[in-house]
Amino acid sequence: MAHIIKHHPSTELLQQFTTGTLVADIALAIAAHVDMCPQCQQLSLDMANDIGTDIEQTVIDAPTGNEQNNWSAMLEAIMQQPVVTLNTAEPKPIAAVTVKVNQREFILPRALQRLATNHNKWLQLGGIASAKVPAGPGHHVSLLHIDKNTAVPQHTHLGLEITLILAGKIVDEDGEYGVGDLLVNSPDVTHTPRTLADEDCLCLSVLSAPLQFKKGLTRLLNPFQQFFY
Ligand SMILES: [Zn+2]
Repeated sequence: MAHIIKHHPSTELLQQFTTGTLVADIALAIAAHVDMCPQCQQLSLDMANDIGTDIEQTVIDAPTGNEQNNWSAMLEAIMQQPVVTLNTAEPKPIAAVTVKVNQREFILPRALQRLATNHNKWLQLGGIASAKVPAGPGHHVSLLHIDKNTAVPQHTHLGLEITLILAGKIVDEDGEYGVGDLLVNSPDVTHTPRTLADEDCLCLSVLSAPLQFKKGLTRLLNPFQQFFY
């Protein structure tokens, strides 16, 4: 049975995504979630339709007389803006573009297909492999492959951490996350994500600041921090 997605972006995030006002690196994670989540596809479509209705309503309320010509010109300009058409396309079937790591091959959602050929080489540290993805200023984006039965050392966040599960499962102190689930962690969250004994995990990670490790050797090892950021 397919995993039922339980963790979605907030309404505010989805709204910003739909209107195209979200910073590109975060929009990438939301777009990939929306590709995998029929519920958020519908919500995003409804939000886009609401924006369209607002504009139509403005037409009905338009003033008459001398102002009409100016108004028509302005309205035309508004209608030509891309905001209404952003992210409203019908969901397309996901083409089988894959990424390979550790003799495993994973299908990427449509929004991430560019990453199949666009990521840096995989770096391996213990059971965790990381491949950086080109990102704008202010964010670090990477693909993470976590082998089965492997934990990411306990850490907190100096900024925003967005994790989208692309394959497999991750558990942490707060619960279990499966394919399509989107985790948004702020600096007040400390957690130890790990995979299950018999299942590896591929995820997309978007960070606005480095992770801060809390325990043991990793706390002292800056290279380890660099590995994730
Ligand atoms: Zn969703």
